[in-house]
Amino acid sequence: MELPFAENYKIKMVENIRRSTRAERERWIREARYNLFNLRSDQVFVDLLTDSGTGAMSDRQWSAMMLGDESYAGASSYYKLKEAISDITGFPYFLPTHQGRAAENVLFSTLIKAGQVVPGNAHFDTTKGHIEFRKATAIDCTIDEASDTTLDHPFKGNVDLNKLQHVFDTHPLEQIPFIIVTITCNTSGGQPVSLENMRQVRQLANRYGVRVIFDAARFAENAYFIKLREPGYADRSIREIVHEMFSLADAMTMSSKKDGIVNMGGFIGLREEELFRQASVYNIMFEGYITYGGMSGRDMNALAVGLYEATEFDYLETRISQVAYLGRKLHEAGIPVQYPFGGHAIFVDALKFLPLVPREQFVAQTLALELYVEGGVRGVEIGTIMADRDPVTRLNRYPSLELVRLAIPRRTYTNNHMDYVAASLINVWQRRNEIRTGYRIVNEAPILRHFTVELDRV
Ligand SMILES: *Cc1c(COP(=O)(O)O)cnc(C)c1O
Repeated sequence: MELPFAENYKIKMVENIRRSTRAERERWIREARYNLFNLRSDQVFVDLLTDSGTGAMSDRQWSAMMLGDESYAGASSYYKLKEAISDITGFPYFLPTHQGRAAENVLFSTLIKAGQVVPGNAHFDTTKGHIEFRKATAIDCTIDEASDTTLDHPFKGNVDLNKLQHVFDTHPLEQIPFIIVTITCNTSGGQPVSLENMRQVRQLANRYGVRVIFDAARFAENAYFIKLREPGYADRSIREIVHEMFSLADAMTMSSKKDGIVNMGGFIGLREEELFRQASVYNIMFEGYITYGGMSGRDMNALAVGLYEATEFDYLETRISQVAYLGRKLHEAGIPVQYPFGGHAIFVDALKFLPLVPREQFVAQTLALELYVEGGVRGVEIGTIMADRDPVTRLNRYPSLELVRLAIPRRTYTNNHMDYVAASLINVWQRRNEIRTGYRIVNEAPILRHFTVELDRV
């Protein structure tokens, strides 16, 4: 008998979670103004809101925390992290920040001016927010295949080179500070970018003398997909692939809460000393001195260990197999999920799931709320609410996809929890034809509105 797959860890510490009743959940979600971010975590049974900072640290990470050096300047923890980053990514310079968006804030303050455009592959919401906050425009150049959730394509995160070329053909060069490539592409479904595509983007950027920046939150998951799917990489180690990926970028922003497997932290990796100097000024202003930048020494130590653990094949296989386990369960029940499955999450196609709910009534949000009431499972809307209004016309922007993302925290839940999640969603699926109306906005912020939006039933 062939031995089955099993997790590459055992559990040393547990945290109790509590089931609730449907009546409780109906009350709680009403009190939360139908915004899942407003729920208390103890009102949630299986929390798939995000895989950001919600993972379980290893015993080695916890022990590294005890060795944290909390010196203001020049802490040993800073040097440990610097060594780990240069070893894994190849970037000789780095700036710690308190999380990924802070890295964006610091680097974009250095690079982006009003009126510019930043092409890339489905910019993440905070990335787009930080571009638009500077009165610049994010231009999505993702391949069209990404918006067909049923199409089997190994690298749906890829940049469409014709679309990218078009940006260069229609804008003066001074207007394009850099290209940003998000690996894996969160917004289009946790889909990877191939090394071939990264190389082509690099070549195009070289032709115009423009920088390439990686939004690298899930770089290790991206490398795992390259190893499995890209011809010529099956025998290369994850770390070799990671090296090759980063060799094609001039700088990176990182949310360490993802593939750093820590609860808080981020950084910027840089190749140019001059850019490092310029960014250091903003880092000191916004984050903290350049050897801690919003992170405590113990957190930098845990991150240094986490970066090594995240780039081990066995870890990645365990993680991504669990995501696929949930994906297969839903797929087998006939539920429209994005295919192939992403690295960190399963994305449910809400337009196909709830075809009777009008687009103006926030279809994906409606589905996410139904799932919560059904089983106490918290996912998140990646759709019209998250897309924000157009900064110029102030009209709602309707993205090509309305998705409910079920993001799986790293090393946190068992496959029994995945079975529970699948059963909850299947129950909603079976009564989908009774769901005909959605929600309307009562209150919203001008930017990144999904975090605080207040809704009511239509
Ligand atoms: C999470 C994330 C960010 C922002 O990082 P935070 O740590 O949440 O501030 C940026 N880009 C991508 C692709 C992300 O997934």
